[in-house]
Amino acid sequence: MKRIFAHLKGYVTESILGPLFKLFEATLELIVPLVIASIIDVGIENGDKSYVVKMCLLLALLGAVGLAFSVIAQYFAAKASVGFVTKLRHSLFSHIQTLSYSEIDRLGTSTLITRMTSDSNQVQTGLNLALRLLLRSPFVVFGAMIMAFVIDTKSAVTFAAVIPALSVVVFGIMLISMPLYKKVQKRLDRVLRKTRENLSGVRVIRAFCKEEDEIRDFNERNEDLSSAQRYVGRISALMNPLTYILINLAIIWLIDIGAVRVNSGALTQGEVIALYNYMSQILIELIKLANLIITITKALASAGRINSVFEIESSIENGVLKNGLDSEFAVELCDAELTYANSSEPAVSEINFKVRRGETVGIIGSTGSGKSTLVNLIPRFYDTTGGRVLVDGADVRTYDEESLRKKIGVVPQKAVLFSGSVRENMKWGNEDATDEEIYSALEAAQAKSVVLDKGGLDFKIEQGGRNLSGGQRQRLTIARALVKNPEILILDDSASALDFATDAALRAAIRELDGEHTVFVVSQRASSIMYADKIVVLDDGRAVGIGTHDELLASCDVYREIYRSQFKEEVSE
Ligand code: ADP
Ligand code: MG
Repeated sequence: MKRIFAHLKGYVTESILGPLFKLFEATLELIVPLVIASIIDVGIENGDKSYVVKMCLLLALLGAVGLAFSVIAQYFAAKASVGFVTKLRHSLFSHIQTLSYSEIDRLGTSTLITRMTSDSNQVQTGLNLALRLLLRSPFVVFGAMIMAFVIDTKSAVTFAAVIPALSVVVFGIMLISMPLYKKVQKRLDRVLRKTRENLSGVRVIRAFCKEEDEIRDFNERNEDLSSAQRYVGRISALMNPLTYILINLAIIWLIDIGAVRVNSGALTQGEVIALYNYMSQILIELIKLANLIITITKALASAGRINSVFEIESSIENGVLKNGLDSEFAVELCDAELTYANSSEPAVSEINFKVRRGETVGIIGSTGSGKSTLVNLIPRFYDTTGGRVLVDGADVRTYDEESLRKKIGVVPQKAVLFSGSVRENMKWGNEDATDEEIYSALEAAQAKSVVLDKGGLDFKIEQGGRNLSGGQRQRLTIARALVKNPEILILDDSASALDFATDAALRAAIRELDGEHTVFVVSQRASSIMYADKIVVLDDGRAVGIGTHDELLASCDVYREIYRSQFKEEVSE
């Protein structure tokens, strides 16, 4: 939590001035009943109209000054809370950027989005309210009680009795409803999750005619949510009737005592009215305080959740190496093994092979055999849980992350583009790329015609590349990696949405690229990798064959099986 509240630094003045002005305002509020008392006791008693008018003007003045103080307090509280949360969100975002794939896998994207948005907002609301009310409400409650005792000790006994009774009711209801509010929050999360999943998968839902099921499921969760809300609402609804009964009983008692004391001359009529006013003030402030406590509890819970993200440190420690060593191999895997954090079985294990500079390596295997896992080890998206991965002769763990990733261009299996023009997206690979360089990368990636059809490099890509087809997206992500002109190029199933001819043209174009590129081609298609210098056949996380196409055809059952299933005619003769 310390780490979170450290962000308040720079807003200390505001955080002090906000509550301070609120206290000024509360002081004025406590004076009001005294003024009213003197209107009754002096002005009305003596029929002094000008005194009454004077005092009414004073009341208006108190009101106006109070309003001004309140606005100033609001200003400071808003400035502090908005500024604080802006800073907090900033550092949360940068913190998330430092996390490795493993931690992001563990937390999940939607959790992180919630931390950045609704949890941060909750903290902001809580802080804003706390700055305004946390001091003010108790101050008014105790201030009003003290004023009552100053006016008349005997009548103030009613205050001493009613404040504890009111507190029991108000805080009792609060304590009962707080866990219920948590339940409501949980159910709200379920509704949100369902909505998110449903909306992102809406096409699939339509395709499988699952609308009815989805609607039923949603209604169920929605109904759960509202029944929880109704329940807690009913309990909270007790607050007003119960407290008003108490306060009215106390007022009857107060007037009863007061009447006797006014008769005996110990108390004036105006003072009884003042006491009555103080009692109402106390009620209002206690209810505000209870609501404040609920809000603060929620805010603290959110702050705790944000804090737990801050507490997660990246499992990947950055090295210092800027350049590789002078090695004959571009990439070496020695007994590499990776077990994902949330699983017991290794996704890949005992992987051994070496790749010379400029070679093309094909990686083939069925879905889930560990192809993506294997190539993700090279740019150190995940740290191996056993063995080593070397790039240019040096362990990837010794590299400075940025320098390592500069060497490597990755085309991930899932083609992701960002909203912005084609040019902006292409420049992710290299900020200084000229249009000419971008076009030559697009050409190699077989995407030039796509871009030209769309109207050139200024064509606006929508969020996630929604306005492009799957194949178009893939080609653009390949071009983006090529713009980087990396020493090592990794194509993770990047040709899966391309037709065979385009796939072949792409492979040819990559071979023609300037400079020496070590290329990893991951595919389920034998045709995409059969011409590679070296083919690694994966089966259930193990390399069951390493060699050229001809060698594997002769020696590796799994490879022969894959090949035969895709090229039936040729092999069956
Ligand atoms: P491929 O790319 O060959 O289809 P993957 O490398 O993606 O296969 O997956 C290999 C195995 O690892 C699968 O069993 C998959 O369920 C598991 N796996 C992949 N990614 C993760 C992850 N982020 N967390 C946990 N398990 C994963
Ligand atoms: Mg994969």
